[in-house]
Amino acid sequence: MRKTAQKKSTATKTPRKRKNSGSINRMDALKAFITACAVVVISLLISITIIVFHKNNVKHKVNEDPDVEIVNNEINDVEPVKTPSEPPTAPLYAPPPAVQTPVTHSSETHKAPLASKSAPVSEKPAASSKPAPVVPAAGTSSNNTAKPVEDKGVLVFVIDDAGNNLHELEPFLRISGPLTIAVLPGLPHSAEAARRIRTAGKEVILHQPMEALGGQNPGPGAIYSNMSADEIRAVLRRNIEEVGPVKGINNHQGSMITMNGNIMKIILAFCAENNLFFLDSRTTADTAVPVLAKQMGMKIAERDVFIDNEQNKDAMREFITGGLARAQKNGKAVMIGHTWSSELAPLLAEQFPLLRNRGFTIKTVSDIINEK
Ligand SMILES: [Zn+2]
Repeated sequence: MRKTAQKKSTATKTPRKRKNSGSINRMDALKAFITACAVVVISLLISITIIVFHKNNVKHKVNEDPDVEIVNNEINDVEPVKTPSEPPTAPLYAPPPAVQTPVTHSSETHKAPLASKSAPVSEKPAASSKPAPVVPAAGTSSNNTAKPVEDKGVLVFVIDDAGNNLHELEPFLRISGPLTIAVLPGLPHSAEAARRIRTAGKEVILHQPMEALGGQNPGPGAIYSNMSADEIRAVLRRNIEEVGPVKGINNHQGSMITMNGNIMKIILAFCAENNLFFLDSRTTADTAVPVLAKQMGMKIAERDVFIDNEQNKDAMREFITGGLARAQKNGKAVMIGHTWSSELAPLLAEQFPLLRNRGFTIKTVSDIINEK
């Protein structure tokens, strides 16, 4: 009751005031007008600020396109360092961990064919001066699904060190898609491994053992730096007779030999005469092969990534992801793994269809040499 009474009294007071003083009334109107103008101006300023802020935000999101980012990353040739962040392309599909225990080997290890007790059979691949890959965080996954599949580049997978046994080789032969498999000579299963690889429709190459700087035993049928040109050619012919016909040759170990221009000239000339390609495994950064091949007018291929320097699926996935970035940047990437990587065949079998769906083309070494 009291409230309504107050309201009534104020309501009656105000009009009386305005009636009594015209100038005060005009002042009030002016003040009201100025206040209204101020409110309008402030609202406009706030709106403009909001619009500008929103535009900037959208710009940032566009720059996070993962496919644009990945091309800017240099990938370390040899020992990509794992980073905790997600890879820039959509990461490879990771199924639940397998039960098998990984076997530890380094990239140029194979089960010593002649059971040499003394020599450690490991040769670290070349250290590269390039920085370790810094992988930015992944963009939103919806970005990828919305895009049409585009050509992301060519991937070549090479599996080294076949010939030690057949049971490690078999899972690779069942992979649906192109594979190049390199067979070591002079081992109990060399010839049979090569035969099975051909029957499975995969590409066979000779995995030519060569002397390494570290003095490891490269195994039977190896090329050493103290050999004559005739001896080198004879070794190559004998090895090819055993595992051939082959499409090409790549080096097993061989850091010492691939650095040696004189010997590599003999080997490359042998390749040219016999219509074989040479794939440089790049076990040393100081390899003479690329320069020599250029001088001799020969097309060669070079290894970009070792997949299984670390023997677990997660690490191998990261190496492959590095290869994908390479392929996107350079048009192609050659990735080398080994038959003794027990988890590699299942990983490739699982990844081949996924990689194709993402726009990568899987080919053999011959394919990329012929397209050069
Ligand atoms: Zn090898």
